Formats: sequence, structure tokens, C-alpha cells
Amino acid sequence: MIKVGSLTTVLILSFLVFSLPLTFADKAKTIKVLKNVYTITSGDGIDSNTTFIITKEGVIVIDTRPTPAEARKVLAEIRKLTALPIVYTINTHYHGDHTFGNQVFKNSKTIIAHKNVRNKLIESGQKHLSLFKTFGLPGIDEVEITPPNIIYEKEMEIWLGEYRLQLLYHGKGHTDGDTIIYIDQLRTVITGDLVFNKKIPYTADAYIDDWIDSLKYIELLKNETVIPGHGPIGERTTIISMKHYLMNLKELVLAQLKDKKTLKETQEIVEPILRKKYKDWEDLDWIKDNIERAWLEYSSKQKT
Ligand SMILES: [Zn+2]
Repeated sequence: MIKVGSLTTVLILSFLVFSLPLTFADKAKTIKVLKNVYTITSGDGIDSNTTFIITKEGVIVIDTRPTPAEARKVLAEIRKLTALPIVYTINTHYHGDHTFGNQVFKNSKTIIAHKNVRNKLIESGQKHLSLFKTFGLPGIDEVEITPPNIIYEKEMEIWLGEYRLQLLYHGKGHTDGDTIIYIDQLRTVITGDLVFNKKIPYTADAYIDDWIDSLKYIELLKNETVIPGHGPIGERTTIISMKHYLMNLKELVLAQLKDKKTLKETQEIVEPILRKKYKDWEDLDWIKDNIERAWLEYSSKQKT
């Protein structure tokens, strides 16, 4: 998840874009990524991406935005393009900005995710929702935690219409239940929050080492188009940039641990280096939290 957009910005942008086709009355954009593949980026409130694929037999929705109201906007965008039913909804991971719109799609009876996503939403979904309520998102009180009802452990395939989607779990990363969606015939990978494009990632419940491994795995898939969890549509280099950021974070934090630096000292040394190197990325304020997560991970590994 990522910061809440300012109302002023939204109002200004809504004035600028209201007459464009396929846009909400805010800064959100529906982008035709490929034939039949659309991604809504820069959505209102929290900017998590949602993708939908229109097949000959129905629609697949990937991630459902942070509130039912936002999810209904997704549905409205789909209905501008097709009357075919929503057949499958997929959650790339449990974070609320990717799952709290699930209830809008539950009539299809097929909300799919890794098994850890269901567990997490059942065990701590309410606590996670309480966190989201502090962001003041319009319509957040309407959220009913709706866990996925079809789960998998390592890999599953979905065949619908002319497309095959591979759902791949490579282990922990951004969370403990990240799904990589690979469409080989389109050379496209939908990464969820394993990839933030030109944005500092959110790492509050991440596993940095495993995340780097997952990105190396995604790199090996034949892909030309990369649809990230946050930020604009990318390409192969987008995966590599995310991997390099995490590797930089790891190396810098490990160097401080070697010198027996405390968390605070590590943050004071590493934060300015990363801020300078990634000055063109958004959400630089997350860097401090990223350092904390990495410091905790690698200091606990050194003890074992
Ligand atoms: Zn996330």
C-alpha cells in the first residue's frame, strides 16, 4: 500500500481529465496495455493498480482496490467495454488496497489467491482494516472483509477463452503470499507489489532476501510487459530496477550491521545515500521504514 492522495490534487486533476474517455472523475486512468488487457492506475485514495482481462468467455479481474466504492468504479470501467460476466477475481496479496473491494466481485464465487492470503485476511483482516480506517478513505466503513474462496499453494493455471494465466508462488517477498501472474502468450507478467515502478516500496511485512529471489525468478520468465502493483506499466528493466533497489538496501544495511551500528545509526547513514540515489522515485519517505525492516531481518539472521 502507499500514501493517501491529497484531495486538492484529486480535485484539480479531476477538472483536467473529466472529459477524457475511460477515466474516472479523478486522476485514475484506464490504460489499454495490450489487446484485451487493461490496467487502472493512479486510482483515487491509494494508488494500487487493478488489471482486467476481457476474454471471449468472460472477464478476469486482478486486485480490487481499497474500498467497495473504488471497486465499483472498476466494474463501471469494465462495463464500458463488455457485458460479459466477471468469471474470476484474483488477489495478488492480502493488503487492503488489493483486497478491500472484493465484496463487489463476490457474486462470481471465485476469488482466487495464495492460501496465505486467505489465512491472513481471516486471522488479521479486521486489524488490517483498522489500520486502513486511519487513512480516512471515503467509503472505508463499507468494507466487509471478503477472503478468497479458491486457494492454491505453489502453482495453478486458469484457462478462460483464448488465454491461459499461470499463477505462480515463489515464496515470501513483499508479503508471505504474493502471486505472480504470468501470461506467456502475451509475454506479460502481473507482479502485484513485488514490483513498484519508480516508487519506493512498502515493506512493513516484507522479507527482503526472499523478495530479491522472487524478482530474479520473475526476470527469468519471458516477459516484455510488466504490470506492477503500484506505478505505471513497465518492462523488463522495471523488474531489474526494483531488484537493484532491494539489493542496495540489503548491502548498505549489512555493511552497518558489520560495524555493529544500531538501527538509528543505520538509518542516519543509509537513508541519505538511498534518497540521493533514488531521488527520481516517488515516496522517498518510505526509505526509513525500508531500512528498519532490512535491519531487523538481517540482524535476526546474524543471531541465528
Ligand atoms: Zn502491498
